[in-house]
Amino acid sequence: MPVGKISTYEELLEIIKESDREFDMDLIGRAYKLADDLHGSQKRLSGEPYIVHPLSVASILVDLGMDSESIAAGLLHDVVEDTPITLEQIEKMFSRDIANLIDGVTKIGRIPYSTREEQQAENIRKMLIAMADDIRVIIIKLADRLHNMRTMEYQTPQKQRDKALECMEVYAPIAHRLGIRAVKEELEDLSLRYLDPVAYQEIENTLTLHKNERAAFIERTKKKIYDRLSAMIPNVYLEGRVKSINGIYRKMFIQGKNIESIYDIYAVRVIVDTVNDCYNVLGVIHDMFQPLPNRFKDYISTPKPNMYQSLHTTVLSAEGIPFEVQIRTWEMHHTAEYGIAAHWKYKLGLTKGDTLENRLVWIRQMLENQKDNEDATDLVRTIKSDLAPEEVFVFTPKGEVISLPSGSTVIDFAYAIHSAVGNRMIGAKVDKRIVPIDYKVKTGEIVEILTTKEPDHGPSRDWLNIVKTSEARNKIRQWFKKERREENIVEGRAEVEREFKRNGIVMSDQELKDLLESIGRKQNCSTVDDVYSAIGYGGIQLWKLMPRIREEYMKKKQQLPEAQAQQEKKTPLTTNKKAMGGVLVEGMDNCLIKLSRCCNPLPGDEIIGFITRGFGVSIHKRSCSNVPQDISKAPEPERWVKAHWAGEVKETFESTLEIVAEDRSGLLADVTQQFFNMRLFIQSLNSRVTKDGHAVIHATITVNGIEHITTVIGKLKNIEGIISVKRS
Ligand code: MN
Repeated sequence: MPVGKISTYEELLEIIKESDREFDMDLIGRAYKLADDLHGSQKRLSGEPYIVHPLSVASILVDLGMDSESIAAGLLHDVVEDTPITLEQIEKMFSRDIANLIDGVTKIGRIPYSTREEQQAENIRKMLIAMADDIRVIIIKLADRLHNMRTMEYQTPQKQRDKALECMEVYAPIAHRLGIRAVKEELEDLSLRYLDPVAYQEIENTLTLHKNERAAFIERTKKKIYDRLSAMIPNVYLEGRVKSINGIYRKMFIQGKNIESIYDIYAVRVIVDTVNDCYNVLGVIHDMFQPLPNRFKDYISTPKPNMYQSLHTTVLSAEGIPFEVQIRTWEMHHTAEYGIAAHWKYKLGLTKGDTLENRLVWIRQMLENQKDNEDATDLVRTIKSDLAPEEVFVFTPKGEVISLPSGSTVIDFAYAIHSAVGNRMIGAKVDKRIVPIDYKVKTGEIVEILTTKEPDHGPSRDWLNIVKTSEARNKIRQWFKKERREENIVEGRAEVEREFKRNGIVMSDQELKDLLESIGRKQNCSTVDDVYSAIGYGGIQLWKLMPRIREEYMKKKQQLPEAQAQQEKKTPLTTNKKAMGGVLVEGMDNCLIKLSRCCNPLPGDEIIGFITRGFGVSIHKRSCSNVPQDISKAPEPERWVKAHWAGEVKETFESTLEIVAEDRSGLLADVTQQFFNMRLFIQSLNSRVTKDGHAVIHATITVNGIEHITTVIGKLKNIEGIISVKRS
């Protein structure tokens, strides 16, 4: 990259001419004229006229392959911030688009950056992307940053370090994710110079010693390889590079290597058409140069988790200098270089050549299509949701960025800050205006929570229906647990009554007490009131326990003495009859039982049987969609028969789980590891990624009942990034 410093409009015109592309020169000329007039006699810290900065930004944008509007906006990017002109005036003189671009650049420039915390940096990156409705805003901002970093020597040391840190943690990663590697590397190297000047100098010195030799060495080696390969393999493309200073730095100071043992300071990349060619190239390279032991890696047959594919080998040149050779196909190359952008770069049919110009064609193409092409709008959305998934980013009044799932309310925000803030919340202001309590926050807003000093003020139960995040919901429940014991007990009692009634369960007081005590032992409650209270605030979810309670209740009833059992002779089943497959079917002994595949019923589920023609009785969940709601109105009602789970269950059952998670590398491995830890047998496993970036895994496993599957689900939910787990 290129473009050094420029100071006059004539130089910009020269760069535009060299780019060999068409531009709206009238637009660019008018933008320059206005910027030059407005900045007038303003000076940079270097003492140069201010206009040098927008001119340089514009020239970087030409170089990045950007369009006329971006270049005009680049020339004007600082006028609204630094001169008396307003956005409305710009819109009148130019266009709404250009005004929006300038507004966007100004706005994201105001995002404060003050902390080193990694999560905070990530939030700011995502927020920046989310705030830019037009992806060009980000690219203009990157160009602005790049030029400021190049001219940082005139700033105070404190400012140098602050800006360098922000660049390293926020802007370079964005350039990286947009696939603009040249910008990313230059931003990093410039930042490193201020963040660790001693190390930077040390590396620079070591490298500059051989500066001329280095370039010559790479060129010589490339030519040697090209001459050999082009005679036997079609369409060979080669490129060479020297590792960036920050890249070397990371290896030296993070991986603790000394500079002699970094083998990929010099690297040659060979790009060919087919996988077969890759292995052929490898053979030739190993024939030409001495390979270093243990330095060959085949990422083609075993891709990295991020889909990266290539062959890597390190060989020794005739001069005794080690260099790395990477061999890949064009397809692998595009995945490696553009990541998420690759698939639509393909869609646009841009597959060959790797000049900087080409590297950015996709951005330009996308911009050109953005307005009238639905497909391209879709792509913009894709790239944005890849970079910043369904999240909103809002500020505390102190400028800290809080990220929340989209749809979150001011209550979620309050609890995200601290439970004490949530519990004492009485209202909220967004951008200094009072808002209703269910107000949904939007990216970029400043949210202030109004609280009371009253110590025992608490949340309202209604909030449980308003909040979006489970964090807020849990904290609200937690408060009720602690502060409203009496209320909870009453609430819990009422719920037990309701559920029992619904399930037709009648118990004596003693039986009920025994049952609650046994639940309490498992849930760390020491008294019956504790159990009621836990049910009341939601710590114990009664509906989850009901199938089990019902099952035990039925079992007890079946064990009643003969006389009482008489009353229930309609149920001819007893536990001493043989239960096939763990299921008792009313009126049929020893019949063939098959658990249906559509709903995979588990012990504890309410079930029903269907007499098939010749295959025995198939057992469904009562709630299965294949079971008619009202049996008496079904076509052949007599074929539906009552069925129950037998008391003792030894068999195992198949169950299919649907696991939804944030897609990340290693996710599937973590899930299977958890299955393995629990000694579960996996029948089948498949996963896919949804449009919104979630991974959906379907796993069929063997379990021995509903309690077992509940434990499994609980364990899975603890895995990082898991959003939901349920039986499907
Ligand atoms: Mn600027």
